[in-house]
Amino acid sequence: MLTQGIITGSSVQTLHKSLKLNNVCYDIRGPVLQRAKEMEEDGHRIIKLNIGNPAPFGFEAPEEILQDVIHNMGQASGYTDSKGLFSARKAIMHYTQQKNIKGVTIEDIIVGNGVSELIVMAMQGLLNNGDQVLVPMPDYPLWTAAVTLAGGTARHYVCEEDNGWEPNLKDIESKINANTRGIVIINPNNPTGALYSDDLLKGIIEIARHHGLVIFADEIYDKVLYDGHQHTSIASLADDVLFITLNGLSKNYRTCGYRAGWLIASGAKKHAHDYIEGLNMLASMRLCANVPGQLGIQTALGGYQSIDDLVAPEGRLCKQRDLAYEMLTAIPGVTCYKPPAAMYLFPKLDPEIYPIEDD
Ligand code: PLP
Repeated sequence: MLTQGIITGSSVQTLHKSLKLNNVCYDIRGPVLQRAKEMEEDGHRIIKLNIGNPAPFGFEAPEEILQDVIHNMGQASGYTDSKGLFSARKAIMHYTQQKNIKGVTIEDIIVGNGVSELIVMAMQGLLNNGDQVLVPMPDYPLWTAAVTLAGGTARHYVCEEDNGWEPNLKDIESKINANTRGIVIINPNNPTGALYSDDLLKGIIEIARHHGLVIFADEIYDKVLYDGHQHTSIASLADDVLFITLNGLSKNYRTCGYRAGWLIASGAKKHAHDYIEGLNMLASMRLCANVPGQLGIQTALGGYQSIDDLVAPEGRLCKQRDLAYEMLTAIPGVTCYKPPAAMYLFPKLDPEIYPIEDD
């Protein structure tokens, strides 16, 4: 009987995961979720906040996107161009124009199975063993995992709570060495909800320019902005640094399950032909992104933006942010920065009241 492993001749060998995965940590779907499942089986009701998944909380996909995907499903049976449907990439290109990112052509855009796939691709395409990438701390853990899986090392730079969770530029600078290849910024930020000022973004560009680093900008929450705040795409602020900007439908359009994201190369592309070639190769190795998801992109990016209603003062997301903030900070020993953007609160527990030694 085969219970575990494979049978070779008469001996059963235990299968181990590859050495490449040894240092990869990605626990948001790991042991905690496993424990939650066990508790559910015991009859407990669990609210899962481990991933930003708006659908189970009643955030529906905008009706127009859903209808257009259904309408076009008949054309979704074949592979598309490995970089994505022309119409989707055209809409993304127009979006870069709205965000003042200059010089983006259709060829600079790759549509992927969510930003997640493209993060992994962006790291696999660039890093050699021993390369380093600067990643924010606190982190959205996929970035660290993707750097590690690609053979690199994530060097975490400090973001400071008492400074609106902005990255500390001195700390970034101090962590750069001959092996450093890029800087990741997540703006608006998961998990802190921070939104970066233009001055800060210019400071990051200055560092990248000086050290010849690629800037990876994860901007998946760029429309989830409260209190009238505006978002600046870092790629709109310079054209002499290579920017890889990532965005998608998951959060702004509450369609995580469609798995539709995109990667945009802009700025100093001339010096990055080979890297971009590598990204194209990785895109063609998985043939194309999920086509039904791609079909939602053009409709999502054009016309009425339902997210604007959700983040307005009377909108559900804004009211929930306010209520969650008030209730959390009313708990003795819990303080929190009130996030101007995204869908998260990153509270601090007073160690005098909550003597947690290891989280
Ligand atoms: N980047 C950040 C900062 C996120 O918070 C998330 C999802 O929570 C992702 C990327 C993944 O997005 P996608 O659903 O497009 O893979």
